[in-house]
Amino acid sequence: MKKQDLAGYLDLHAEEIFAASRYLYDNPELSKEEENSSSMFKRLLKKNGFTIHEFGQDELKYAFYAEYGNGHPVVAMLGEYDALPGLSQEGGYSEMKPVENGGAGHGCGHNLIGACAFGGALSAKKYLEESGHSGTVRFYGCPQEEMLDGKVLMAKYHAFDGCDMAFAYHPWNANIPVSQGFLAMNNMKFHFTGITAHAGQAPEQGRSALDAVELSNMGVNVMREHVISSARIHYVITNGGEAPNIVPKEAASWYYVRAPHRKDVVDITRRVINCQKGGALMTDTFLDYEIAGGCYELLPNDVLCALARKNFEEMEMCPYTEEENALARALSESLPPEQVQTEREHIGFYDADSFIHSGIVAKEAASRYPITGSSDIGDVSWLMPFSTIFTAAWPVGVNAHTWQSASASGCTLGQKGMLYAAKIMTGMFYDVINDSEILETAAAEHRKRTEGNPYDCPM
Ligand SMILES: [Zn+2]
Ligand SMILES: [Zn+2]
Repeated sequence: MKKQDLAGYLDLHAEEIFAASRYLYDNPELSKEEENSSSMFKRLLKKNGFTIHEFGQDELKYAFYAEYGNGHPVVAMLGEYDALPGLSQEGGYSEMKPVENGGAGHGCGHNLIGACAFGGALSAKKYLEESGHSGTVRFYGCPQEEMLDGKVLMAKYHAFDGCDMAFAYHPWNANIPVSQGFLAMNNMKFHFTGITAHAGQAPEQGRSALDAVELSNMGVNVMREHVISSARIHYVITNGGEAPNIVPKEAASWYYVRAPHRKDVVDITRRVINCQKGGALMTDTFLDYEIAGGCYELLPNDVLCALARKNFEEMEMCPYTEEENALARALSESLPPEQVQTEREHIGFYDADSFIHSGIVAKEAASRYPITGSSDIGDVSWLMPFSTIFTAAWPVGVNAHTWQSASASGCTLGQKGMLYAAKIMTGMFYDVINDSEILETAAAEHRKRTEGNPYDCPM
């Protein structure tokens, strides 16, 4: 069985893979609520001859892996399935059209991520069966990516033990073998307690928890000048008191700190906490806080990135119908033209009549491509050699967490982009099984990059 036969195998099973993505799209579940989504994949994989493993912990009730094969290499394909609040959208529409007003929807296309790993695992199994080679494939069901802690918790409970390498996918507006990016992050909650009092009659008896929040925020805001410029610090006040005539006894804020490297996040976190301590000290209030979560940046692996690029080149994108091209155009044109133009420049794609990226973002452009969100895939990349890929499942210029990305994720536009990704993942699996040197060199690179700086689970 040759590599291209596996691409053909995926074409043959496209309907089954698309149906899985469609089921998730039609039944969106938010982070921590993915009961039906995880059950569907368990059912499908079991039916296809995989063995299901669960982890037992309550925090991981919607996480699992499904395994097929024997011996090494053990390759993990990471599936996700959580949706986003408020992004309900009729799939395949060129206008904003919620299925349910204010309802959840797949604006990040995680329905396609789950389906891609499912397709990848199916074809990997097919190859192991046909070739008789040693090797194991694992589909990982990874919940709550949008909370940025699903895989962090999985790492905490050693869910990835036994894997030699991992492949991941995210739908995007371009074809990119991702070489760098995703900011490391910490998520912190601060709670202040003061003393309530009548704000007019006896303010001197009160100690305002809201004052503490405000002064702490002020401290952080002047600190911004003295952190690396690539860091991002954002907060909201989650409790600011009840009424102006009551000195607030309780007040609270919620912070995210992000930076390209985890070590910077850890240091800025320490300084943000100092600002909060200062706020409490200045106002004679009491501070309580928790680091509610955090994740790592993506640790690059040049060996696997090059392998991904080779497979982008070897596999072919699915052809698009006139209808799909027209939808892509309409979705792209619903955006401000400058936004689309900027994105065209980022990916080096200037064909003004094409609204679905074709070709592959060049190596140089990919190494500069801005990925300034965070993802819990970063943590997996610190555990083992790791590769993630983006494919053009959304039209040019369309960003994640929008009704446009939701619309594309719920129709053949997104599904075809996802199938291309599943073929690339399968091709990478084929190469790893047939050439043991890939794992050896990727693992050596991983060891070198983490030497003296091993993974330290943020949770
Ligand atoms: Zn997202
Ligand atoms: Zn996402």
